Amino acid sequence: MPGLRLGIDLDGVVADFTKGWMNFYNQEFGTELKVEDSVSWNGLTELTHFKSMGEFWRWASDLDGRSIFWHLDTFPGAVEALHDLASEGHHIAILTTKPEFAVHDTFEWLAKHELPTTEVHILEDKWRVDCDVYLDDSPIVLPRLILHRGDRTVCRFVRPWNSPVDGAIDVEGFADFQQVVSGLA
Ligand SMILES: [Mg+2]
Repeated sequence: MPGLRLGIDLDGVVADFTKGWMNFYNQEFGTELKVEDSVSWNGLTELTHFKSMGEFWRWASDLDGRSIFWHLDTFPGAVEALHDLASEGHHIAILTTKPEFAVHDTFEWLAKHELPTTEVHILEDKWRVDCDVYLDDSPIVLPRLILHRGDRTVCRFVRPWNSPVDGAIDVEGFADFQQVVSGLA
């Protein structure tokens, strides 16, 4: 069987967005936020002094001259897992939602971390990109993938800020995800 098209999200899946913004926030505002404190989607207005996400994004658009996304670390093992999947013949399509100010930083980030991809989509409606398997952590994106791509495999990357979605397969990490993919291939 030929390789599968894998639609892979970045933030919360490959890129550690929570740790990234918290590091900057703690340094600048003298707080001691921890990754475990992040338990709800867009819940950072409750954790920070920012009154709106708009206010947060204005701050996050310029941290040491780059947007927050440029600074993010990868989760341990994530990039290696993508390389394994690619070397097994699967096609990695990156599907990521980003503010407009972060588009070029996102391409730089993908290059800097040498993600094994030749296909990058920066968009909100991820379901528009036809993939065999989707991997995402967003409680907004996952139901839409199920709705529009119900005949494909949709994987929820289990995080404290999401909950089970009817029709999605729960994966606790990339080892789980690789098992789901090899089960299909
Ligand atoms: Mg995400």
